[in-house]
Amino acid sequence: MPDLTVTNVRPFNGTATDIHIRDGIVVDAPGANATVVDGLGAIALPAFVDAHMHLDKTLWGLPWRAHSAGKRLDEKIANERAARQELGADVEIQAARLIDQAIKNGTAAIRSHVDIDPDIGLANVESLLRVKSAYADVVDIQLVAFPQTGLVSRPGTSDLMHAAIEMGVDLVGGIDPQAIDGDADAHVRTIFDLAERTGAGIDIHHHEEGDAGADTLDLILDAVEAYAMQGCVTLSHAFCIGMVSEARMQSILDRIATLDVAIITTAPGYKAFPPVQAMREREIRVASGSDGVRDVWTPFGNADMLERAMLLAYRSNFRRDDEIEMVLDICTYGGGEVMDLEDHGPFPGQRADIVLIEAENAAEAVVNRPSGRRLIKNGALIG
Ligand SMILES: [Zn+2]
Repeated sequence: MPDLTVTNVRPFNGTATDIHIRDGIVVDAPGANATVVDGLGAIALPAFVDAHMHLDKTLWGLPWRAHSAGKRLDEKIANERAARQELGADVEIQAARLIDQAIKNGTAAIRSHVDIDPDIGLANVESLLRVKSAYADVVDIQLVAFPQTGLVSRPGTSDLMHAAIEMGVDLVGGIDPQAIDGDADAHVRTIFDLAERTGAGIDIHHHEEGDAGADTLDLILDAVEAYAMQGCVTLSHAFCIGMVSEARMQSILDRIATLDVAIITTAPGYKAFPPVQAMREREIRVASGSDGVRDVWTPFGNADMLERAMLLAYRSNFRRDDEIEMVLDICTYGGGEVMDLEDHGPFPGQRADIVLIEAENAAEAVVNRPSGRRLIKNGALIG
């Protein structure tokens, strides 16, 4: 790959400079025959990391479909099973459409859950593994084996998840051990056993609310300790942390920090969520993501992590520049840490996954979310 020099860019809010890239890494000095690209005074940020997506569910680019699901989780799951037949959308084509959109928005890494259940078997896994390899040069994709409709209550699912990991899926997923399966102990044990057998990490959807949800969360944290999986487990959502008493919240966060469990929050519009500032103060690894984008779960979403950063700031009542920069950090470096990616960004020594944004500064970029963006992935200008 030829060397690349991007002139006249401002890393974060710094002064204008040139960024030199060799072999996919930002270096101090320009190469002799470097390709030169005019940065046009844009700010240069680490490329976005969308750490929670559902690439196999999106209807992106298809004609508008009126939302048909009820409000409850079980209603949404039932609606999806019915709609899946009716829609017959091609998972591979749809996932590619959404990834293209994410790249356009400056995203260079995606963690996506992929549905596995006895009805669809490994069909979605096969589709997303093909998409992952087709996009290997332009976006890092991690997949999570996701038992959306239940694990221990759906016989055969854990075997399918095991097969998925052997096929190349990266992590073991889970969902609401008590609320979905009615047996939190068995659900948690099945997930951790599978992770132990395969050496895969874990990323669990946890939507259970209030103190009951926190009780389940305690069980998960017990398992992290018992299986010695510190540093290998992510909790997605974990709404309950934002719902319990201040004292219980503090003690949960302390334990999460000690066990090095990562948290992914999407800053949902309708629910409490784990307090961002308190997690960052404890140096808990925090990432964010789009979650469902234009699927039968929600008509919203646009695979734009700059918009996600705005939502995270807005819902956290962040207004100062340093607070807004904190959410940007979560949507870039934070995602990289949770996905265990090589450190990336616009500074010498970092992997050259960079997004150029026509903005005055980082905070203004979050507030205005300009569309003028260019993605550099592994040192190559994409698109
Ligand atoms: Zn999700």
